[in-house]
Amino acid sequence: MTDDIYFTPASDSHKKKEKAKARELKQGSWWKQVVGKGICYHCEQKFKADELTMDHLIPIVRGGTSDKKNCVPSCKECNTKKGYKTRAEMAMDELAKTSPANDNQNHEDEYNNDDQE
Ligand SMILES: [Zn+2]
Repeated sequence: MTDDIYFTPASDSHKKKEKAKARELKQGSWWKQVVGKGICYHCEQKFKADELTMDHLIPIVRGGTSDKKNCVPSCKECNTKKGYKTRAEMAMDELAKTSPANDNQNHEDEYNNDDQE
């Protein structure tokens, strides 16, 4: 986590409040309906209601709230994969892995030209 400059943890009071709200939301009929459908939001596979966990699209630690828009059902596998990262950040990680270092290539060309002359 030390190299993640975008990571700004939410305050303890925010986390406490939203975790309590999440617990309340889980007790409510809305969440029972959601898990009753048994579809994981991320992989869209079907699971038993008790295999689905409540997942925050914007994690509480990042300032997300426990409301119906931010809470989705997630299977355990997807929830584990996601961790602290948001979907946008996962996409950015993929880009970082695949993008070549163009700057280095340019420098190499310059050196090659010098050798030939
Ligand atoms: Zn899933």
